[in-house]
Amino acid sequence: MTVKYADVQQKMKTRGECRVGLGFDSHRFSHDRRLILCGVEIPDTPGLAGHSDADLALHAVIDALLGALALPDIGELFPPTDPKWKDASSRLLLQSALQFARERFPHLELQNVDLTLITEAPRIAPLKEAMIRSLSEMLDLPADRISVKGKTNEGMGWIGTKEGMAALCVLSARI
Ligand code: MG
Repeated sequence: MTVKYADVQQKMKTRGECRVGLGFDSHRFSHDRRLILCGVEIPDTPGLAGHSDADLALHAVIDALLGALALPDIGELFPPTDPKWKDASSRLLLQSALQFARERFPHLELQNVDLTLITEAPRIAPLKEAMIRSLSEMLDLPADRISVKGKTNEGMGWIGTKEGMAALCVLSARI
């Protein structure tokens, strides 16, 4: 009885609390795959290698969400050894991660998402609108609470030589 009361007290204390999570991902380019970013297929650009569809933008968003809630990370929820996720759309991964999060935090309310894609190609600016629209639908979050930015790495290192690309995401949520 005492333990249950303590649980209720703990929930009351954290309810409404604001959380922030950081997600990072990087993948190597693979010329025989399609490029999918934020669930949007980008034509005429090499895709990315990976177990799923390698949508690193969504992977960074998922890890930011899970990180904000101190839940197991994307690799623990969707192990690359699990054949279930082979070539899977990362939209499904995001859907599952959101469901997993909402089961544990039923009052979860996403506040904003800030995503940066670091790559020499493709240029992100012309793709931003479609990516924001896609994220807005998937996260059920108004587009004016979502930012997508593109940066090059000024030709430096493995991103500069177009070996791969990287994504960083910060997400805030109320629980
Ligand atoms: Mg990944």
